[in-house]
Order: sequence, then C-alpha cells, then structure tokens
Amino acid sequence: MNRYLKNRSVRHHGAGRFLVAVAVVAFLVSCHQPSPMQFLGQAQGTYYSIQYYDAQQRNFQPQIDSLLDAFDLSASLWVDSSLLRRINANLTDSLDNILYTLLGNSLAIEHYTDGAFNCRVGRLVQTWGFSFKQRSEPDSTALAAMLQAAHAEVTLDNRHLTKKPDTEFDFNAIAQGYASDLVAHFLASQGIESYLVDIGGEVIAHGRKADGKPWKVGIERPAEDSISAPVVDIAIPLVDRSVVTSGNYRKYYEKDGVKYSHTIDPSTGRPVTHSLLSVSVVEKECWLADAMATAYMVMGLERAKNFIADNPQGPGTDAVFFIYDSCGTMATYATPGWKKLK
Ligand code: AMP
Ligand code: MG
Repeated sequence: MNRYLKNRSVRHHGAGRFLVAVAVVAFLVSCHQPSPMQFLGQAQGTYYSIQYYDAQQRNFQPQIDSLLDAFDLSASLWVDSSLLRRINANLTDSLDNILYTLLGNSLAIEHYTDGAFNCRVGRLVQTWGFSFKQRSEPDSTALAAMLQAAHAEVTLDNRHLTKKPDTEFDFNAIAQGYASDLVAHFLASQGIESYLVDIGGEVIAHGRKADGKPWKVGIERPAEDSISAPVVDIAIPLVDRSVVTSGNYRKYYEKDGVKYSHTIDPSTGRPVTHSLLSVSVVEKECWLADAMATAYMVMGLERAKNFIADNPQGPGTDAVFFIYDSCGTMATYATPGWKKLK
C-alpha cells in the first residue's frame, strides 16, 4: 500500500514537473515569438522589402536578387539589353516566359477594362516624357500614328510575336506586381507559408504572423505634391491577398501650369487629367491588383464606380479611391468590398 502510494506520489510528482516545464516553455514561446527573417534591397529602380518566418532561418536574399535581376533582363525598359527593349526595337520576335505572361495578362485586362489598360502605349509614354527619352508634346499627326500603333493587333504563334514595327510595349503597369508574385511563388516553393513581399509598394501578404495575427499593410494617403512624403493613412489586415496603389501624385510633371500624369488614356493618347489622385486595389494576385489600379487611374472615379457596379464578381471590386472633391479637399471613396476588408 505504502509502496503504491509512494509510486503514485512519485508519478504525480513527475507529471507535475512535466506540466510546470510545459507551462514554462509555453510562457517563453508566448513571450519570444520567433522573429521573421527580413531584408531590404533594390530592384526595378525601387526598393524591395521581404519578411518571412522560416524555422530554419534560411536567407533567401541571394536567390531573390537573382530572380529580380533575371526579371529586369527580360521586362525592364531601363535595361538597354533587356529582351523587352529588343522586342520593341524589332530585333527579335521570341518571347520568354516572363514576357509571354505579361503580354497575355495585359491583353486579357485590356479586354476586361474596355481598353483602359493597354500595354502598347510604349511610344506614347516615352513621348509624353515618363521614360528615358526627352519629353515633348506630339503634334496631331504624330499622336494619331502613336494611337494607331497602340491599338494595332499583335499575334502570337508559339511564343513568336507579330506586331507593327512601331508598336512598343510598356509593362510597367504590372511589372512590379508580377515580380512580387514571382518572389511569392519562390518562397512558397521553399516551403515558406508566412511572408510579406513588398516591391516598391506592391505588397503580398501570405499566411499569418507568428502570433497568429494577420500582416498589416499601410495604405498611403497621396502627398500634396511630388516632394512631400505621403502619409500612411489606413492600415488593413491582409491574409493571402495583395494590395497595390497607383497614383498620379508622385509621377507627374508640371508644364505651363498643367499637370501631366504618367498614366496615358489609350482612347486619346494623352496623359489623364482627372481629379483621381490614387487608388488602392486588393486582389489575390498582385499583378491583377496592379493592373486594375492602373486601369482605374485611366477611368477616373465615376467611370470606375460604374465599372465595379457592372462587374460585381470582379476582379477589382475591393478598392479605395483618393480624390480632390469639388471644394479642393482630399476625400476618399471605398467600395463595399473594400469596407469588408477591415
Ligand atoms: P502604375 O504605376 O502601376 O499605375 O503604372 C503606370 C505605368 O504604366 C506608366 O508609368 C506607364 O509606364 C504605363 N502606362 C501608362 N498608361 C498606361 C495604360 N493606360 N495602360 C497600361 N500601362 C500604362
Ligand atoms: Mg499598376
């Protein structure tokens, strides 16, 4: 009997110690959440910032740098020898996987947005001065020729492209978003389930942080001019979603009192001039959020509102718009889908 009690008491004692140990470990874990791997770098003429949780604490920066360098060699307009520059200069007609995807996605969104999005505005963008060339206001003959080039058909035959010689592509409206998607795919391929990828403000949040909370992403309120720092106005929780902001408040120039935006209206061939300052869009894929944000900058608020009402299943239904109202005060319009995000 005594032995029995003794053994029980020993066993009980052991279980107690075990429970205390578990409680201590749980306490320590709750106090010391694993910190994410994080690094900053430069790509596509902008910054990138990447965070992820990895039990093995692997540093993927070298692989991500190579991935982004390869992306630039394909789709950048700023790299002289990029495949895109050679396609535009009619030096080759063979697309690689990146350009094939960018072109296919762009043509699909052009169709969906009724032409507001158009990746063949390359010459117009250069001429109006948002590229490496000098800016100039084209005369009506030159404008008509560039408009025609921006609407000329392109065909693909087994990744071989046929286009008018003066049609030039510009994928900058989705390049950062798509590059963010590629980085996200890379991290997922390494077994990473929780990450935050931000390339120049095109953000993908996947999974949750170690404390179980969603990643939070700040949305910039447009700055008053191109010099002032934008203010982070709204922070939204994001799980397995991307958010992209397009704005005319940073990339514009002023000449003779007129503000020229870097977004071209493909129906006129001219920079857009409406009062929409910026728009942020949430979508599952980052390139798609990027594409819709640019398309809304072309449409302006009223047309964008009608478009969203006509396409309630999306993509592009979760959006917030910053505008100057009739009194010149900054105001926001959030779609019903956006309001549900919080
Ligand atoms: P984002 O900052 O993503 O809105 O992209 C703007 C960039 O896309 C511009 O600087 C141009 O390079 C290009 N772009 C301008 N207008 C258009 C358009 N209507 N459709 C697609 N890309 C455009
Ligand atoms: Mg865009």
